[in-house]
Amino acid sequence: MLWKASLFLKHFFYLASNLRPMEYSSKLLENAVNALSQLPGIGKRTALRLVLHLLNQPEDQTLQLSQSLQKMREEINFCKNCHNISDTELCEICANPNRDSQLVCVVEDIRDVIAIENTSQYKGHYHVLGGKISPMDGVGPGDLKIPTLVQKVKNGGLNELIFALSSTMEGDTTNFYIFKQIEDYDILTTTIARGISVGDELEYADEVTLGRSILNRIPFESSLKST
Ligand SMILES: [Zn+2]
Repeated sequence: MLWKASLFLKHFFYLASNLRPMEYSSKLLENAVNALSQLPGIGKRTALRLVLHLLNQPEDQTLQLSQSLQKMREEINFCKNCHNISDTELCEICANPNRDSQLVCVVEDIRDVIAIENTSQYKGHYHVLGGKISPMDGVGPGDLKIPTLVQKVKNGGLNELIFALSSTMEGDTTNFYIFKQIEDYDILTTTIARGISVGDELEYADEVTLGRSILNRIPFESSLKST
């Protein structure tokens, strides 16, 4: 009985020590830790480790880091055609005359563009939605770059739209929403072949699998029948 009580106390004090807010000897240090811990996946302890690391480095290294972040935030552009992150008005892909502008691959964000570009199997353009429809997270169609995509289709000049969103419920909902908006227009809609398993995020697929699934894409409507 006694050992049980002592185990309980040990456990209690362990938990209490973890719950106690961290004490900082400097307000400047605390501010930096708080700022870094706003980033996803960075807790207070990791933030403190990073701040202490920066303090051990030459001062201009920290300056360089903060300046590059500030410059990125102030000067970054989004391509006016595909909404990909870009330094120029038109991104390198949209500005490249060797790419097929009549073929458009619909993706969630820049990570998917990078993943597909790494396969070297795709020579069309992209349309970056900036997310997926997700009522749980409060993201509706109006929060995404869907109207410009629908307008592109309405304007004509596109041969094929490839849906390359991840195969999750949100991805499927988004595909279907867009499909319903454009199904009356004369355009081929396809979806990447499901070498990418259900629930997989595109950016984690290996290059060969992802490359193959783009080459072996299937008509979007047949993907609806199979689910
Ligand atoms: Zn672009």
